[in-house]
Amino acid sequence: MRKVGFFNSIHVKFVLIYVMLILLALQIIGLNFSRGLEQTLKKNFTTSIEDRINLVEFSVREEMLKERPSDDPSLESSLRTVLTGFSSADINEVLVIDSKYRILASSVLDHQKTLVGRKSTEDIVKRAIISETPSPQVIKYSKKTDGRVLIRAFPIMNGSEVIGALYVESNIEKVFTQIDQINRILAGSAAVSLTITIIIGIFIAQTFTRPISDMRRQAQAMAKGNFSRKVRVYGNDEMGQLAIAFNHLTNQLLESQSTTEAERRKLASVLENMTDGVISTDRKGRVSLINDSALNMLGMTSDLVLNRPITNLLGIEKEYSFEDLIEMRESIPLDFSTETEPSILRATFSVTQRETGFVNGLIIVLHDNTEQEKIDMERREFVSNVSHELRTPLTTMRSYLEALADGAWKNEDIAPAFLNVTQTETERMIRLVNDLLKLSRMDSNEYELNTEWVDFSTFFNSIIDRFEFSKSEDVSFRRIIPPEDLFVEIDTDKLTQVIDNIISNALKYSPDGGIVRFHVAVLEDSIRVSISDEGLGIPPSNVNRIFDRFYRADKARSRAMGGTGLGLAIAKEMINAHGGRIWAHSVEGEGTTILFTLPYEQHDEGEWDV
Ligand code: ADP
Repeated sequence: MRKVGFFNSIHVKFVLIYVMLILLALQIIGLNFSRGLEQTLKKNFTTSIEDRINLVEFSVREEMLKERPSDDPSLESSLRTVLTGFSSADINEVLVIDSKYRILASSVLDHQKTLVGRKSTEDIVKRAIISETPSPQVIKYSKKTDGRVLIRAFPIMNGSEVIGALYVESNIEKVFTQIDQINRILAGSAAVSLTITIIIGIFIAQTFTRPISDMRRQAQAMAKGNFSRKVRVYGNDEMGQLAIAFNHLTNQLLESQSTTEAERRKLASVLENMTDGVISTDRKGRVSLINDSALNMLGMTSDLVLNRPITNLLGIEKEYSFEDLIEMRESIPLDFSTETEPSILRATFSVTQRETGFVNGLIIVLHDNTEQEKIDMERREFVSNVSHELRTPLTTMRSYLEALADGAWKNEDIAPAFLNVTQTETERMIRLVNDLLKLSRMDSNEYELNTEWVDFSTFFNSIIDRFEFSKSEDVSFRRIIPPEDLFVEIDTDKLTQVIDNIISNALKYSPDGGIVRFHVAVLEDSIRVSISDEGLGIPPSNVNRIFDRFYRADKARSRAMGGTGLGLAIAKEMINAHGGRIWAHSVEGEGTTILFTLPYEQHDEGEWDV
């Protein structure tokens, strides 16, 4: 957060405003006070001067009105006496002037000889005599006293006639000095009171700004995720209320933050434990979140995925734009299969929007459909195989039956052969349908194994014996079967079917003079049975496929030999049901070995004797 500048801080602003207001008040008070004081002092001064001048004027007038001969010098000496008798500290000089502006006397001794008899040149004297009223006051600087002096002229009246004037020069400097002193005292007190005001202002401002600064620090701490701090409540005023409200807000925020955090964790754990993949994007379609399932499905790591455009990540940028996905109402299949591993995903899109309708992003749910697709494909293949397997014998039968219906039945040479063919095909169809029924029962777990404990060596030998007696091919049998008892818990009927199928295949594919070998090996917790022939063998890429339903390495030959392509598939189901495993080894041109295991527990000899 930005630091608050010194002059921007409320604290400084408050003190400044406060000081300015006090300063303004002091200025107004000081100005009015000093002006009033100045006027009062001046007025008092002039009044006291005027009062004394009135007395002097009276005496002077008396002297001037006395009957004297015109050149009697006693007037000047009488006036001098009057003026000399009048002495005052604040009056510098008083001049008596007659109506013709001639100076008659001066209160200053030195001037009595120099000025008396001369004409006064002062304007104010002339104005007083002409206007018959006292002249206005004039204040000017006097070199003599090195200060300001107040000069004034008063007319001397005899009734309505002006007989002369008094010129008065008084020393007003003392008044100004007094005013200056008072102003200085005023300024000093103002400075002291201002200083005290500033100090008080700073303290008062602090009472406002401290809680605010505290709240600012609290807000900064909250922004960093620290909700443990509390604002101090200084009082019960508005600031205190605000601090309480702020602390309450902090608690609320803490609570809602922990709720949000808990929700976030819950969501994260839901996302992580989901088997479906979940991807979310921002409003520009860039990946912002992806769970582990989605990463596994796409075979990616999160650093390769985050911020990547979703259309690019799903490999659909040629077909769809991000806007298309926003509008998408149906799920779309995505094929991520590699050469070795099939992977079919189904993506469903939903838009995250604000209340205003503004699109915030997209949520994509990826569902792994590989198994479902595989099952669907197998089912389609199975139906097509079954139809094909049934159509072939039916077509053959129809053509033979049509031929018979067209009159071949009358032909004694052909008819039995034709009927024989239809019978063989019918039997094959019955075998096929029976095999299918068996498989279907196994698929739906509708069958039960009727197990019993049998000695496998005896059981196996008896089956091989049966084949050895009845075989027509020029094939010899070799057995490596342990002579001792190997007790296993098996459903003899079902295992007979399995072994019959394997032996008949071995005989079917054995060349003339070939050897079929039978071997039983005792392993740690099982017995392993193998039946090998020296036939054509099976191409290596197809070896494992011979246990698939309807798989036939050589279709024409298998069919010609009456095979349904289901024998080994049924064998696999049955061996699995017994808790064993079946597989094949084959080298093309050398022969094939079919092996299977059955669970077997070795017992001590004595155990059976008890
Ligand atoms: P089928 O009824 O066609 O014999 P199976 O399920 O028993 O059906 O066998 C599946 C296919 O496996 C056969 O069509 C054949 O191509 C191959 N096969 C099975 N056993 C052998 C073997 N011993 N030698 C060569 N190929 C074999």
